[in-house]
Amino acid sequence: MTIDTARLREDFPILSREVNGRALVYLDNAATTQKPRAVIDALTHYYETQNANIHRGIHTLAVEATEAYEGVRAKAARHIGARNAEDIVFTRNTTESINLVARAWGDAKLREGDEIVLTLMEHHSNIVPWQLLAARTGAQLRYADIDAAGQLDLDELRSLIGERTKLVSVTHMSNVLGTINPIAEIAEMAREAGALLLVDGAQSAPHLPVDVEALGCDVFAFSAHKMLGPTGVGVLWARAGLLAEMEPFLGGGEMISIVKPEGSTWAEGPHKFEAGTPNIADVIAFGAALDYLDALGMADVREHEKRITAYAIEALEGSGGITVHGPHDVEVRGGAVSFEVDGVHPHDISTIVDAYGVAIRAGHHCAQLLMRHLSVPATNRASFYLYNEEREVDALIEALDEAKRVFGRVESRTAV
Ligand code: PMP
Repeated sequence: MTIDTARLREDFPILSREVNGRALVYLDNAATTQKPRAVIDALTHYYETQNANIHRGIHTLAVEATEAYEGVRAKAARHIGARNAEDIVFTRNTTESINLVARAWGDAKLREGDEIVLTLMEHHSNIVPWQLLAARTGAQLRYADIDAAGQLDLDELRSLIGERTKLVSVTHMSNVLGTINPIAEIAEMAREAGALLLVDGAQSAPHLPVDVEALGCDVFAFSAHKMLGPTGVGVLWARAGLLAEMEPFLGGGEMISIVKPEGSTWAEGPHKFEAGTPNIADVIAFGAALDYLDALGMADVREHEKRITAYAIEALEGSGGITVHGPHDVEVRGGAVSFEVDGVHPHDISTIVDAYGVAIRAGHHCAQLLMRHLSVPATNRASFYLYNEEREVDALIEALDEAKRVFGRVESRTAV
């Protein structure tokens, strides 16, 4: 069913505000998304009616809070097609989920001479934890290249994965190019080599129907704040049995079974990795975000984004002096659209369009390896979500036209 954005936008209080005297046009959804009233209300409701620490208490509030928190574990599992809620760990964000694996799995499993295969389109949060792990263990990093269309060079990737490969870690969807990577195919390559496959789902879990079992990956990481939920909640899913094989990440309360002076034993399942009091309120509010997405249906979210992304790419490229990076075919890409405006620095573009109430992002998008590959210091990025409308793309184009006029004038004045 088509998403009724006019009705749905009423659920997002922030979308009715003005910025610089204009209606806000929020096109920075790859950085973080806006929150519907249901999520904001869930936070307030928790603090007003249920606030208690979880797991330890037997009083009513503690039981209710525990049930609400654990219920979201099951919802998060359902959202990505995972069979067991027990395979879901709550973290702070995607970054922490990946660091957890680098520490809890990587430190124990990697040795000098082992190899970790990444790609040039990874976010820093899927590069730096592996660089740190490589420095600790003596493992080597290998990076798969990207072709001219902004897609992974799968032949090269295949040639990089070999008997030394212990881990392949790739993004499901690029936060810069929008490229959707063929994870099932990559999972085959990793499986043949006996390597673990981690998928950075920070940009896919919010925008695509995801089924981790069908994808065939071993680990999948994502963040609540990029999918209508609050900041401060990340998710790590690991294939059944894998969490049990991992060492603890952080030590403290909640993650133990028995503590003795000489040492301790660990709690079972995800609790082993959730030391201390977790972000109870935000996890519970994340449940409301998952309900919201579930009610819409991820297939319809994806269809909506395909339409608006196709519209945006055509409008940007048709407006003159603008080049869109990455694949143009919306079947193989999502709604993070990076572009260049001839002769104008992205930061200047971003500043001018902000004066028109349009929020886009300019910078390296935490993907400096990709910037180097594209031979640019930075890009502009407009990124869409379920509440964006074509008229907002029109507002972006209008603001960009103004930026082009301003900088055209500046350039000719300097030339005189
Ligand atoms: N990976 C990708 C592809 C991302 O887009 C982001 C967020 N920009 C991250 C990882 C990191 O997410 P977080 O900051 O929530 O940890």
